[in-house]
Amino acid sequence: MANTSIYPEALSICKMFDMSDEQMQDVVQRMTKEMSMGLTKETHPRAVIKCWITYVQDLPTGKERGKYLALDLGGTNFRVLLVHLKSEYDVDIQSKSYVMGQALMTGSGKDLFDFIAECLANFVQEHRVDKEDLPLGFTFSFPVQQLGLTKGILVTWTKGFSCDGVVGKNVVELLQEAIVRRGDLRINIVAILNDTTGTLMSCAFKKHNCRIGLIVGTGCNACYVEKTANAQVFEHYQTSAKPNMIINCEWGAFGDNGVLDFIRTPYDKIVDKQTPNVGRQTFEKCISGMYLGELVRLIIVDLKERGILFKNIDSQVLKQKWKFETKFLSEAESDPPGSFRNMGQILDQCGIRGATDSDKACVRYICETISRRSAKLVACGLVCLINRMGVNDLSVGIDGSVYRFHPKYHNLLTEYMNKLLKSAVKFELVLSEDGSGRGAALIAAVASQK
Ligand code: BGC
Ligand code: MG
Repeated sequence: MANTSIYPEALSICKMFDMSDEQMQDVVQRMTKEMSMGLTKETHPRAVIKCWITYVQDLPTGKERGKYLALDLGGTNFRVLLVHLKSEYDVDIQSKSYVMGQALMTGSGKDLFDFIAECLANFVQEHRVDKEDLPLGFTFSFPVQQLGLTKGILVTWTKGFSCDGVVGKNVVELLQEAIVRRGDLRINIVAILNDTTGTLMSCAFKKHNCRIGLIVGTGCNACYVEKTANAQVFEHYQTSAKPNMIINCEWGAFGDNGVLDFIRTPYDKIVDKQTPNVGRQTFEKCISGMYLGELVRLIIVDLKERGILFKNIDSQVLKQKWKFETKFLSEAESDPPGSFRNMGQILDQCGIRGATDSDKACVRYICETISRRSAKLVACGLVCLINRMGVNDLSVGIDGSVYRFHPKYHNLLTEYMNKLLKSAVKFELVLSEDGSGRGAALIAAVASQK
């Protein structure tokens, strides 16, 4: 788009977010180093990208069948799902979403798990499977140190969660205890997994060359297929008969040791200070849905205070933290060039009346800038994993609200990946819906066969 109509002050702020090709290559290199620190036994304890082993060593064959329950905790909603794998082409999923109030996200761990157990109890009764003793896969999308398929210790909360009494505990046990407290549930928890792992499995059910699972939603993270021999944190890494291990990178923490400071802006630092997990999830905070809207808002407020944007217009509402939602970026960037239909509605929702077309074009430009940097950073991450695996033909299963709803994210990712990949690699970015449900069921299927 032509920049001619964008206020020069806005251009110069946005320039800070504009990563050059060299900077992107630099990010790939730094990440490569941090990844190998996470995988290596001696360096793992001080690594920021932890590269947790998942104990998932088999990709689905497409032949998995049966009925499973799944829980999905870690996004904006909490969900309970009943997944029936009938055939490779016929998977029946029934689910119910429950809004997670702020009180539950920041209250006591006991209340959180009691709530989960209650939703589960209501769900199995409504779907008349309360007597069936179904295997359950628990998608718990936070950094977890797995000690087995059914044992996972929460390392730290992310994405605005901060319930006490959970960090350092085995979350499967906490769920089991809540189930026992109720006394009316017959549930068999057979696996705990990350949403990225679920997404990889779900995609691999159909695409046999799927090697990466990616989430760009409220948070951001990826998992990939590593050689077991390289997963040194696994006690049997040298003797395991299985050649592969899915690694949950937890790449959201990339940069927590300062290695991304060369691309961070003053606005990133303000966002960080406003979160409950200050100094953590540096990479994630530049990328994911929880934070993109806030970055845009901070730039807008800055330009308004400098008397450049929204001159003589009241914009008190926008002074409230987190008021500019990330879905606004998707909506604003969906307006065709020259049109500000969605933008008008967005500004309306932010209580801004009488903005000029120059104002609107400026806000859109800011949105594009923030989205573009997010896609560039994710592309860096994906290229790092692809180079590491050394594959030249793969699918990447992707889920999350940012990837799913942003009109250009897929194309931006593709463009930047092609730019960064040195050799000819054929990759396909596949929207993998319901990884947390279908993927959890697939892992439960494999686990409960044993
Ligand atoms: C969590 C990851 C998760 C990602 C996407 C991050 O905040 O640490 O475990 O996969 O969000 O949901
Ligand atoms: Mg999710």
